[in-house]
Amino acid sequence: MLLSFFQEEELSPRMFSFNSHVGACPTCDGLGEFQRINNPQCQDCGGERLKAEYRAVTINQQNISQFCQLSVPEARQEIESWVLTENQRTVAEQALGEILTRLKFLENVGLDYLTLDQKASTLSGGEAQRIRLASQIGSGLVGVTYVLDEPTIGLHPRDTARLIRTSYICSSRKYSCCYRA
Ligand SMILES: [Zn+2]
Repeated sequence: MLLSFFQEEELSPRMFSFNSHVGACPTCDGLGEFQRINNPQCQDCGGERLKAEYRAVTINQQNISQFCQLSVPEARQEIESWVLTENQRTVAEQALGEILTRLKFLENVGLDYLTLDQKASTLSGGEAQRIRLASQIGSGLVGVTYVLDEPTIGLHPRDTARLIRTSYICSSRKYSCCYRA
């Protein structure tokens, strides 16, 4: 089914958030599903949690819900493949730089198997801490000490070395990471 919309308002971040009444699918309240055994998926948004007019906004034929179904490395590769005009680059450069920093960090700390729409309730404590650290580092704060409590929980032993290596990189950017193993 092809839907066409005429957007009067300028696009804003709230339109792409299922946590905001502005963007959330009104049928399922942005949950994408219902608490029922048979056919729990919302038929209105197809589980994509946003209003149809905001699901119709795409980059390279992908809307934000479809983009969030990608794994961390797939999302990074997708963004790196975007060809932007000079104007678009001027507008998006800073935001894309921050997104790529976070995605690369998530890969470096062994979370490359996660998809961007992974529900927080399904994350282990160690995974959640590494994700929080990624968003802090992506925001570019300096002179901060992070204390992580058992961040290697749920981490494959081979990825522990990557986490430690990433901590050294953090130190070189004026962050400190303390671990309690
Ligand atoms: Zn819905």
